[in-house]
Amino acid sequence: SKARLFNEKDNIKINFNDVAGLEGAKEEIQEIVEFLKSPEKFTSLGGKIPRGALLVGPPGTGKTLLAKAVAGEAKVPFFSLSGSDFVEMFVGVGASRVRDLFKQAKDKSPSIIFIDEIDAIGRSRGKNNFVGSNDERENTLNQLLTEMDGFDTNTGVIVLAATNRADVLDKALMRAGRFDRQIHVDLPNLIERKEIFGVHLKPLKTGKTLDVDFLARQTPGFSGADIANMCNEAALIAARKSRKTVGKQDFLDAVDRIVGGLERKSKVLSQKE
Ligand code: ATP
Repeated sequence: SKARLFNEKDNIKINFNDVAGLEGAKEEIQEIVEFLKSPEKFTSLGGKIPRGALLVGPPGTGKTLLAKAVAGEAKVPFFSLSGSDFVEMFVGVGASRVRDLFKQAKDKSPSIIFIDEIDAIGRSRGKNNFVGSNDERENTLNQLLTEMDGFDTNTGVIVLAATNRADVLDKALMRAGRFDRQIHVDLPNLIERKEIFGVHLKPLKTGKTLDVDFLARQTPGFSGADIANMCNEAALIAARKSRKTVGKQDFLDAVDRIVGGLERKSKVLSQKE
């Protein structure tokens, strides 16, 4: 059977309310929602709709979530693929996959294409053999550049891409008419962590006295993904202890686990370097 070339979701339920914090990023990306909802409004005055925006920030900060929320808010189909899927790809497959993706997205426009981990395909050409053979990666990148240039200005397809390494990207990607906008998605501060807890505590059965401010203070450096994980861990820990509700100690135990995990991860990373 033929492997799926990319994912398509037509009915995304995620909206801006599911994305806590990130007020600046949401404000910037709101414009793209407006473009997708009513392109004529912009093109009738002679403006050209941007083709792409790059979401830049550390892992787990909500870049994918934000991209999905754009599709959910604008009620348009969401096409996605990940740069890391191109690892070990056979010659010619990467480029044809990209071509196919853009064709489908155009057929269903207005629509969103989301490319996660774009650095895996979008590193400066002629550097670092990161994905498969370098030639194949370059073919894939070139195809992506071609597709972005080949858009009629107003096809109604907007390409969002995410990376935590904007510095290694090929400058050609950032040229006007490609990913010429960068939206920064940073780690949450104390207040933002509180808001993110607000989202991820909702499905949990917690005691009435649970102090969200306390939880936010225990978690400096946590990403949204870490907080989501922590809330889930706390619920599992509480269940294992046969508690009726998820309590403060369960959250503290969950913090230890997450921090332990983060420490292991950073050790592995520093050994690689
Ligand atoms: P990566 O760079 O690792 O792909 P990312 O920035 O795309 O990460 P997401 O995949 O969007 O991060 O986040 C993972 C999960 O973490 C989300 O599905 C959500 O549950 C939670 N999360 C992250 N950021 C937020 C946020 N700002 N508000 C609410 N939940 C968040």
